[in-house]
Amino acid sequence: MRRIWAVAGAALLLAPTTAMRQGVPVDLAMVAKIREEGLQRSQVMEYEGYLADVLGARLTMSNDMKRAQQWAQGAMTKMGLVNVAAEPFMDYGVTWDNEYVSVHLIEPDYQPMVGYPIAHTNGTNGRKVAEAMIVDLLVKSDLEKYRGTLKGKAVLVTPPATIDIAAMTRGVPRLTQQDLDALERTTIAPPRVVPPRTARNADVLTPEEKVAFYAAEGVAVVLQSESGWIGAVRGFSRPGTRTDGWSRAGMLASPAMVAITPEHYNRMYRILRRNIPVKVDVDVRNRIGERVEQAMNVVGEIAGSDLRDEVVMIGAHLDSWHASPNASDNASGVAVMLEAMRILKTVGAKPRRTIRVALWAGEEQGLFGSRAYVSKHFGDPRDPAVGMKPGYEKLSAYFNQDYGSGQYLGIYLQGNEHAREQFTAWMAPFRDLGMTVVSNQGVGSTDHISFDEVGLPGFQFLQDRTPGQGGHTNLDFYDTIQAGDLMKNAVIVASYAYHTANADKRIPRKR
Ligand SMILES: [Zn+2]
Repeated sequence: MRRIWAVAGAALLLAPTTAMRQGVPVDLAMVAKIREEGLQRSQVMEYEGYLADVLGARLTMSNDMKRAQQWAQGAMTKMGLVNVAAEPFMDYGVTWDNEYVSVHLIEPDYQPMVGYPIAHTNGTNGRKVAEAMIVDLLVKSDLEKYRGTLKGKAVLVTPPATIDIAAMTRGVPRLTQQDLDALERTTIAPPRVVPPRTARNADVLTPEEKVAFYAAEGVAVVLQSESGWIGAVRGFSRPGTRTDGWSRAGMLASPAMVAITPEHYNRMYRILRRNIPVKVDVDVRNRIGERVEQAMNVVGEIAGSDLRDEVVMIGAHLDSWHASPNASDNASGVAVMLEAMRILKTVGAKPRRTIRVALWAGEEQGLFGSRAYVSKHFGDPRDPAVGMKPGYEKLSAYFNQDYGSGQYLGIYLQGNEHAREQFTAWMAPFRDLGMTVVSNQGVGSTDHISFDEVGLPGFQFLQDRTPGQGGHTNLDFYDTIQAGDLMKNAVIVASYAYHTANADKRIPRKR
């Protein structure tokens, strides 16, 4: 109350500044400040726009990603965070950046094609005109059929892509009240059915063996399409990159590989099936680093006060796949977390526990950044070689965003019933923004799992579905991001972080 006397007039005194909801304090004065800053003077689309438009794609261990990490550290420093750092977490491999790609159909008709290189592949060593050829490798004996026939060819190595027309007309429906009720009700997970293991036929070629064969045979370029959506290029990393550790040798030894939109790929495929020759003109230039470097997470803090050695974390992965800026996956999560920290700094929040933001790397390749971070700072009681670090008992909770850019409609308890009362109470001031659901369900596939799997409270917000977003493709741009959704999310995560930081006790663990 002292501060109220000093800062404001008598009118504020009449309004309660802290409400108790089922025994859980909610700091309404702070909620009001957070809402006003985050909804009236939001910077979230500035962060989103800079990331998605100016910086672009952010493949882990690319020069693009390093540039984004420098920008993120600058943004954190500018808003007044302390202990801003890029923290190395593993010897990752060499950098890989696409500098140029051009693919054209030139016979029997001219057409520019939309394509993008598979990450961690070599270029074409100059512009090449190549005859196209379907290659259908399945088992080892297939290699003999093709040996000596592929030199200088553009090989089409995947079956024609199928576009799911029905899914297109269905669109992406927003979550209905019925869906939300179901998420709240469902507390019993069905028993997991483990499918029987089928013995792998030893004769079946692995993806790595196929790529090695194309390279050894001297193809000009490997063309593929694994996308099911109109206009979308979907392509990730060359098979074997994890095994060869993103090595320069592995990248240089690989053939040039380009993923093509289904329409353009299928057109070539159909012409070839008519036994009519197809020629392509292709030029791919990739920049491959000289030396192994360390991948890094970017962190920054608002220092706590009396409980400053305890920590509340919020975060999102900064890395992305490389064929578009990945405005939704996950520039949107990064923008929200940066904005939440900016709001807390700007309103002068004085958290008791330290609030730390982490922007992860290596998420798309397997949660590498967050897992390494958790292991180093908090430990892993399941693994005697790592053990529990002193930080393990100091972390209260981690909050993550990574399910597109949709607005928060609730939060998943991740099976931690002990968090229900607090999360329900802290949600109340945001009912009007649509935040209503506490779901007992556990969800996966992103960085809160790195905390949850070692027994630490890690949470992902329950987000609305968003139409038109193409995460992991060449079609994930700023244009599908709704400013209102990101503004609401930043306000909500700022308030959750603040209340977690100022609660009497840390968020209880599941056990
Ligand atoms: Zn993601």
